[in-house]
Amino acid sequence: MKHVNHWINGTRVSGGGRTSEIFNPATGEVSGAVELAAVEDVDAAVEAAKAAFPAWRDASLVKRAQILFRFRELLDRHRDDLAALISAEHGKVHSDALGEVARGIEVVEFACGIPHLLKGGFSESVSTRVDSYSIRQPLGVVAGITPFNFPAMVPMWMFPVAIACGNTFILKPSERDPSASLLIAELWKQAGLPDGVFNVVQGDKVAVDRLLEHPSVAAVSFVGSTPIARYVYETGTAHGKRVQALGGAKNHMLVLPDADLDLVADSAVSAGFGSAGERCMAISVVLAVDPVGDELVSKIVERVGKLTVGPGDQPTSEMGPLVTEVHRDKVASYIDLGQEEGAKLVVDGRETPIQGGTTAAQTSGFWLGPTVLDHVPANSRVHREEIFGPILSIVRVKSYEEGLELINTGEYGNGTAIFTNDGGAARRFQNEVEVGMVGINVPIPVPMAFYSFGGWKASLFGDTHVHGTEGVHFYTRGKVVTSRWLDPSHGGVNLGFPTNK
Ligand code: NAD
Repeated sequence: MKHVNHWINGTRVSGGGRTSEIFNPATGEVSGAVELAAVEDVDAAVEAAKAAFPAWRDASLVKRAQILFRFRELLDRHRDDLAALISAEHGKVHSDALGEVARGIEVVEFACGIPHLLKGGFSESVSTRVDSYSIRQPLGVVAGITPFNFPAMVPMWMFPVAIACGNTFILKPSERDPSASLLIAELWKQAGLPDGVFNVVQGDKVAVDRLLEHPSVAAVSFVGSTPIARYVYETGTAHGKRVQALGGAKNHMLVLPDADLDLVADSAVSAGFGSAGERCMAISVVLAVDPVGDELVSKIVERVGKLTVGPGDQPTSEMGPLVTEVHRDKVASYIDLGQEEGAKLVVDGRETPIQGGTTAAQTSGFWLGPTVLDHVPANSRVHREEIFGPILSIVRVKSYEEGLELINTGEYGNGTAIFTNDGGAARRFQNEVEVGMVGINVPIPVPMAFYSFGGWKASLFGDTHVHGTEGVHFYTRGKVVTSRWLDPSHGGVNLGFPTNK
């Protein structure tokens, strides 16, 4: 049985008291326990981060970049180890876990360019013999609170940029799959990061609340469900912190009649069922514009029938289990609800055979196979609510306008995609849709690290997206210096407001 504890000041430490079980979702068995931080544990991490800040903020940009380069190489070498830890606790298949590690490494690579990213502006002679320049400085101790579905990538959206900017960081990972955070911490240490710059506190609401209230935490990045994102944003800002809080999602794929339906079906199945639908950028609704619905659904059903569902560590598995039993049951409850609301069940994931693993695991793992609901009514809960599992809804619409209206009146605005061969329609969509990340014939338009990731509406509280230049802005504050070096011609007292001379 593994025991997952905290990482404070460059070493693993245990706190007092509460723990929570960690499961292997593919077998339903308990594989270990994670500590749940008490207020004092969080305080110890904040103290360590605070003590490390002055030296780290003064470490040269080149030194910071060199550590980031070494960290990047270590992550690269440990891709498989990280993916194995993720798969064992989250349930996603190994190849998918490798994908999230790769997308996390991209952010580290972006952060390696910090000497360029922190270049300020300089204007000579803004007034006679007066120069002006802008600099961006770190905030101090910053925290990241992250969800279960990307235990490596989402933390890596945050801390490479925060640390490169000169901040010290406290990560509060999801208590459901906490192990990746400790391997990451060890790799930072091997890379030469000074103790206290990167810390991990495991925990639940107690740890989150302490981070939100602690007077020495300057900023909080959060990714998770919308109700908690809203709570984190409101509580953190009420305590004077800078907060970016990314929430839930319900992502639509709008399919116009001129689209290549084989490409659409491949994309809908990949984006709907990859990671068992537990992705904030998963496609959960296909809006099929008349008359493509029947043909598209039959192509989707054909592909779903060929998917292999099984344990994440089996090379043949394409889709693994859900993260917990409670979550699986909640997701599965939407199948009955959808039928009650008038949808037609065309693939029932409750009947999907599980391939690989022991017979016991096949019955006690947190399984739910890919499910397709057709003719889902637009005003149904199945269409409107985030399900976060392997249920793909097909909503039939008469026109582009009707589809767009359904997307724009939804609560969320994280990701969306249009499939069409009409460049004009695609351009109109990118202009009119009220969503933060848009794909054109691309089903999961997750921006590269040098752009910024974030949704609109209930998918993001705050005004900066993560990583890219917005990430650099979030983790720094601007300062403008106006400077004059005395020369013999200075002109005496002047009580007027400074103006250009
Ligand atoms: P969650 O909101 O339950 O948990 C997220 C974090 O908040 C965890 O660290 C958890 O310990 C903490 N937390 C949970 N309840 C809390 C409470 N009452 N008070 C304080 N802290 C609390 O989310 P999850 O189930 O881990 O992750 C899935 C959700 O995350 C989905 O809604 C998904 O859409 C969303 N998500 C969004 C993005 C995005 O970029 N917008 C990315 C990934 C996941």
